[in-house]
Amino acid sequence: MKKYDVIIIGAGASGLTVGANASKRGRKTAILEMGGQPARKVALSGGGRCNITNMAVGVDRYFGNNPQFVRGALSRVRPTDVLQWMKQHNLGTVEKAPGQYFCADGADAVVDALVQDAQGADIFYNTDIKSVQKTDGLFIVQTNKDVFTSQSLVVASGGISFPVAGVSDIGYKIAKQFGHRVEPIRPALCAMKVDCFGSELAGVSIDVEVKVGKQVISDTLLFTHFGIGGPAIYRASVRDFSDGITINFCPKIDLAVEIRKAKHINGKKSMSGWLSQYIPARIAKFFTGKNDKNIADWNNKEINFLVKQLSQFVIGADKIKLHNLQSAEIVRGGVDVADISSKTMESKLCPGLFWVGEVMDISGDLGGFNLHWAWASGVVAGQNA
Ligand SMILES: Cc1cc2nc3c(=O)[nH]c(=O)nc-3n(C[C@H](O)[C@H](O)[C@H](O)COP(=O)(O)OP(=O)(O)OC[C@H]3O[C@@H](n4cnc5c(N)ncnc54)[C@H](O)[C@@H]3O)c2cc1C
Repeated sequence: MKKYDVIIIGAGASGLTVGANASKRGRKTAILEMGGQPARKVALSGGGRCNITNMAVGVDRYFGNNPQFVRGALSRVRPTDVLQWMKQHNLGTVEKAPGQYFCADGADAVVDALVQDAQGADIFYNTDIKSVQKTDGLFIVQTNKDVFTSQSLVVASGGISFPVAGVSDIGYKIAKQFGHRVEPIRPALCAMKVDCFGSELAGVSIDVEVKVGKQVISDTLLFTHFGIGGPAIYRASVRDFSDGITINFCPKIDLAVEIRKAKHINGKKSMSGWLSQYIPARIAKFFTGKNDKNIADWNNKEINFLVKQLSQFVIGADKIKLHNLQSAEIVRGGVDVADISSKTMESKLCPGLFWVGEVMDISGDLGGFNLHWAWASGVVAGQNA
């Protein structure tokens, strides 16, 4: 039997952060990791460059039943703190888009820095959790190797998407065991299967505006052989799209006005040829159809229909299927935060039980918001567990 003050389940982004902070407080800390390596998702993140944080971090970039929950942790760990941490570890940063920071030295360097920070904790690899019990105020954690006991137990087991990185549903099981509600899990930050475009546009990308509920996302859409993906769609997928999505393929111009002008100036040009100055030719051809003709020959009804298709293309929620958990970067859903303290990350139902990172019903936008949540919730729990 191995005795600790704090046991952390999972040596991922949030678990290592808790380990660093708890051990710095002098708490005897163990991190139990089922895999043979730490933070496998961090190593894969940002296409191998790890999008570590984003200056736009704020409640509006988080989703779940109660996104307000993130407010306290975000006020204690700011994007500038993450950049400072990178500096302390001599890691360079690249601001790929305004406010969106990646590690210039690659994602593996971030993993190394996380492990270095957590060196005050004992990390046990290839250690799979079989069961957890609480007896006389102590947690007893049975693994495939040893039995561990602790005063505090921190669940940092992450979400269940992207299984090639090694995932398990242990967090949801522990939640239910201790009376926590678990919001249904679905893929998020992933492509959407839709059948309105066929596969003829596969591989084409375009800058669009996607309207989801009241939010408008300006980003790149990529047509795939099964539907639509790319950052614009990934970002739509994490939001509530129960009213469907509306795509503007031509957001930079007032298409109706420009077509009317073109009728006079460029009447002898084919509509698809003229549209190609604004959108990729294959998309222009797709929307003008087989009977593509000179602009002058399009009547008002046809023009209105084309403008509507290109600037307000509606895909109903019933026509959208999220691609799958295998490819999704994160999940929506998880342990309901209603029974977790936002000040400490401690369970309100079971003293000593803490929750961090993606296992909770908190999902961040694309752009570094999920790792930022892992760092922020990890610091808070590490200061309290
Ligand atoms: C391909 C990909 C790219 C991504 N890129 C980015 C990005 O650039 N920026 C960003 O902000 N977010 C990104 N994300 C999301 C981000 O990686 C996750 O949200 C984040 O890692 C969650 O941190 P976590 O600590 O909650 O869980 P994880 O980092 O997933 O860690 C959970 C850990 O728990 C371990 N574990 C699970 N079950 C058990 C068990 N039964 N026993 C012991 N250990 C267990 C796992 O092995 C894992 O090590 C990406 C995700 C993917 C899949």
